[in-house]
Amino acid sequence: MRRTITGFHQDDGGEWVAELSCLHGQHVRHRPPFQVRSWVRSEDGRAGRAGTELDCPLCDRAELPAGLRVSRTAGPFDAATVPAGLRNAHRVPEGTWGLLRVIEGSASIVIETDPPLAARLDAGDAQPIPPGVPHAVSVEGPVRLTVEFLVRE
Ligand SMILES: [Zn+2]
Repeated sequence: MRRTITGFHQDDGGEWVAELSCLHGQHVRHRPPFQVRSWVRSEDGRAGRAGTELDCPLCDRAELPAGLRVSRTAGPFDAATVPAGLRNAHRVPEGTWGLLRVIEGSASIVIETDPPLAARLDAGDAQPIPPGVPHAVSVEGPVRLTVEFLVRE
């Protein structure tokens, strides 16, 4: 899915990494003739790309970015107390990842990534939920689950 470039930093090897609104980083290398991005070498060039978009395959795979911390935990909920908002298609705010954790029983989640991701979680399983992407949780039978919200440290 498309994500907005919010800034840049250099990795340990001096390669430029675009920082995306989803909290993922993505290398933007200038390696002609395969990858022509001479703009990445200049401050003006990078500044000109801030606010534009890149495709983020890590979001479509719902891979949790590195270096996040838990800002808040919702729950635990059981089958009777799972909020309606979690059962219907809803979104985690921009700049925040969700992490659905099943403590007991099982739950299912559908996330509208591209392609959509459907997972069944049993006790001990956790499923990252990318920011801004509709998702819906369903439960059958007894369950205990929490949702953690993670932000950049
Ligand atoms: Zn991403």
